[in-house]
Formats: sequence, C-alpha cells, structure tokens
Amino acid sequence: MTGAGPAFGEGPQEREPRERPRDLGPLAEELGRIAGAEQVITQEHQLRTYESDGLLQYAVTPAAVVLPGSAEEVQQVVRACHRAGVPWVARGAGSGLSGGALPIEDGVLIGLARLRRILEVDLENQRVLCEPGVTNVAVSEAVGPTHFYPPDPSSQIVCTIGGNVAENSGGAHCFKYGFTTNYVTGLEVILPDGELLRLGGRELDRPGYDLVGAFVGSEGTLGVATKVWLRVVTKPESVRTLVAFFGSTSQAGEVVSEIVSGGIVPGAIEMMDNLSIQAAEAHTGAGYPEDAGAALVVELDGSDAECEARFEQVVDICERAGADSIRVARDDAERGVIWKARKAAFAAMGRVAPNYYVQDSVIPRTRLAEVLGRIDELSDEYGLRVANVFHAGDGNLHPLVCYDGRAEGEAERAEELSGLIVKTCVDAGGSITGEHGVGVDKKRYMPDMFGEPDLAAFQKLRCAFDPDQLANPGKLMPTPRLCGEVPGPYRQHPLEAAGVAERF
Ligand SMILES: Cc1cc2nc3c(=O)[nH]c(=O)nc-3n(C[C@H](O)[C@H](O)[C@H](O)COP(=O)(O)OP(=O)(O)OC[C@H]3O[C@@H](n4cnc5c(N)ncnc54)[C@H](O)[C@@H]3O)c2cc1C
Repeated sequence: MTGAGPAFGEGPQEREPRERPRDLGPLAEELGRIAGAEQVITQEHQLRTYESDGLLQYAVTPAAVVLPGSAEEVQQVVRACHRAGVPWVARGAGSGLSGGALPIEDGVLIGLARLRRILEVDLENQRVLCEPGVTNVAVSEAVGPTHFYPPDPSSQIVCTIGGNVAENSGGAHCFKYGFTTNYVTGLEVILPDGELLRLGGRELDRPGYDLVGAFVGSEGTLGVATKVWLRVVTKPESVRTLVAFFGSTSQAGEVVSEIVSGGIVPGAIEMMDNLSIQAAEAHTGAGYPEDAGAALVVELDGSDAECEARFEQVVDICERAGADSIRVARDDAERGVIWKARKAAFAAMGRVAPNYYVQDSVIPRTRLAEVLGRIDELSDEYGLRVANVFHAGDGNLHPLVCYDGRAEGEAERAEELSGLIVKTCVDAGGSITGEHGVGVDKKRYMPDMFGEPDLAAFQKLRCAFDPDQLANPGKLMPTPRLCGEVPGPYRQHPLEAAGVAERF
C-alpha cells in the first residue's frame, strides 16, 4: 500500500518549499542537549540538504536532522526518539541508489558522518575496527600497502562503511572476493529502543544465530551500527589489467562466459556498452574508442606466475572472439586510467542526458545476451535510451534509463521502463537488486521474488528487533504491517477506494 509516501519524480526541483518546519516539540530540545544545539538542524533550507539520497527522484524533508558525535550520543538520540515514539532514519553519506536513506516527513534523520574514526588496525589478525561514518576507501588506505578491503563500490571515496553494511554493498572486485557480508565479523548496534547490542566480534564464526548476517543488508530497519569489525586481506603479489573493445555487448558477453567457464576467476570483469563508453569518455578522456560497441575490463590478480599465465589465456580468448583492440595497463597509472572510465560511468551519464534512473538487477550470466536484447527492445518501444554498465562476472546489470525530467511524462515513462527491466531480470531467474538494496524504490517488486510466507518471516525478524517500527519505516518491505498483525484475506482499504493509494 502506498499513497502517503513519496511518489517517484517528486525530486527536489519539482516541490514547493514547506511553509514552516514541523515542530518536534521537546524532542528537538532533547536532541540539542544530547549532541549539542549546533548539531541539530531544523531550518527548512538546511534540511533540504538531506531530503534525498543518490536516487534524486524521491525527496522528503525530515522534521529534524541530528549529527551525533559518538556511539553514546547515537544511543541517547535513538532512546529519545523511542520515548517520543518518533521514527528515524540513519544516514551515512547519502550515496544510496534505492532511496534507503530517504527521510520520514515527521521523523528524525540521524547523520553518522561525524563517526569517522578507525579505532583499531590489527594486521596480524587481518582485522579493522571502525566507526560507521568511515568511508570505504579509508579502510584500504589504513591497511595499505600490504593489505586491502575488497568490497569496492564505485562510490567508495564517499560512501560509508555503515551504509555498506546496511546495503550489503558490492563492487567490481566482489566477483572474486565476495560482498560486504563476507567481510563483517562483528557489529556494535543500537537497537530501536536504545539498547546496545554486540553481534559477533573479531573471530569468524560465533555460536548462536547469525545475527551479523541478518543485520548486514537490513537497510537500516533493525538498528544503527555504531562500530564495525571488518576483515581485510593481503594484497596480491601481482595485478594485471586490460580493456578489450568489441563490436557488440553479445560478443563481449561470450568472452565473459568463456573466461569463467574456463576456470579463470578474474579479480574483476566489467562491461560497458556504447552509450556508457561515450558518456565515460566525454567525462574522463581515458582514451576509450567512442564507436566501440562494448568495453570489457578484465583484471587478474594473484601470484606472479598465475597472473602471467592466466593473463595470456584471457588475451587469447579476447583475440579469438574478434576484439577490435586490446589495451593492457603497463603500470599502476595506466591501470588507474582504465578504471577511471569504468568507475565514472554513472556520474558521466549527465553528459548524455539531463536525468537518468539507475537500475540494479541480477541475472544468470548465461542469459546476458538475451536480457540485453530485451532491454534494447524496451528502449526502442519507450523511445528512451538505456546505457548498460555492469559487473559482468556476477550478472549484475546496471541499466541507466536516460530521460529529460522537463519533458511532460518522461520521468513516469522512465520509471515504467525501469520496472519492466526489473521484471525481465526476475523472469530470467534473477533478482530485483544486486547491491543497491530495495529501499523505497524496489519494495513494490518484493512480491515478484518472495511469497507471503517469506515476507511474513522477514517481518517477524524485523519485529523482534523493532516492535514499534521506528527504524526506517516504509523501506524494504512491500506492505507495512504492524508487528503481530497477521496477513488475512485482502480487503480494500478506504484510501484505495478513494483512489489515493494503490496496492502493489
Ligand atoms: C556514483 C555511484 C556509484 C555507486 N556504485 C556502487 C557500487 O559499485 N556498488 C554498490 O554496492 N553500491 C554503489 N552505489 C550505491 C551506494 O554508494 C551504496 O549503497 C553505499 O553503501 C551507500 O553508503 P552511504 O554511506 O552513502 O549510505 P546511505 O545512502 O546514507 O544509506 C544507505 C542505507 O544505509 C542505512 N544506514 C546508513 N548508515 C547506517 C548505519 N550506521 N547503521 C544502520 N543503517 C545505516 C540507511 O538508513 C540507508 O538505508 C553507488 C552510488 C553512486 C552514487
């Protein structure tokens, strides 16, 4: 059921400013006493900084933003919200692409950017303990040059470890190394009633239920992570990177299949289609040929001997598949240039369209050519260009639907087209999200993947952590229910009858 929530396209530019901020009454004063008055924002023009995450199509200004400076302050803030019965949303860097950190209109946004200390680096045991506002890239920087933290979202210079934990974020190197969930060994968590809980720890496998596993990917609906124990790994002896250019994505897709089925496990294997190459090239000048149908970045890492042998195999596969050209990085600087184009692909889309809508779905790798073909058909049907840039090894697509928000109805057409792309991926045996999470944007598709008993089990877990549903309500779950409410036969809600809300 939606209706009261934000509608797609209500981005920042379309909305009228509110007449005056909502009044949280004594709670606002209490937040000031906890974090310091200067760390509490209630002025409309300042609140608007926080009204969206990276998915700008949705925007809601919260009643207040509070920026606590320590785990103790976070705990007190959450406790105060609980006492007042006010919902809240945790926010890291706000780079999420599913509206996960979208505020609640009458709620509090808890910004964690001030909690950015790395508390402990233990290289011998390959562990790092950090606060949630530490950026992803700062972890690798703290353990270099001997070690690194493998999950590497393209947004890694800004996104936070707290956001990564909540979204179970991935990145180019997750095909070989695994996702955030494979690197979090322990968490300190503030539950929605203000209680502090320690889940897991430094060691890998603790007895009892795997609540660390449940918390990772829970999108801020189970509590706030205030400390995170991460596993880091030693840097490989050698890294070899190439980018091969092909006439089409299906040609490049065949190369991906051949590499993987041949038993080669690249550190990363990433693909860009022509439109994303054009955008990235205009943005970075990395030297990608703008007429190429597809670019395939392949990176191998491991021992010198293994890398060398595997690299020759990969070059051979690319040549046999008819690559137009292959560029091999000779040093770190050249490697950086190859990656610059790939990592800038999202941001670069502004070069080819005023607006774009990022999708994030997964398909079995073997269905790549077929699904990309269907996306092309849909793109023609809707008269909207779709760029494709993706983690090819994982089958994790990122179709970028280009549109002009100023043109009447185009934002809605883009949303509809994106929805059909998601459904195409699910029908092909895939998932509605690979790494960006469900948030507010994809919750309507959850019933496409899960049956009622599965969703009810999710809800039971959520209610065990957050019986009052104050933590990030309205996200992740398709039909918000009160804890204890049993799904019964469908009855039309009066708001539906009035045409104000609809059921997904
Ligand atoms: C250009 C660009 C490229 C991107 N590339 C990738 C990519 O390659 N791979 C990928 O996975 N993602 C990618 N993303 C998406 C995004 O960066 C990730 O989802 C990231 O993990 C979000 O981190 P954040 O700190 O910005 O979190 P936010 O956006 O602030 O929050 C995300 C979610 O986490 C919750 N949250 C935040 N902090 C906490 C906490 N301490 N405790 C509990 N919940 C919390 C929020 O409530 C929200 O639900 C990209 C985004 C952009 C803009």
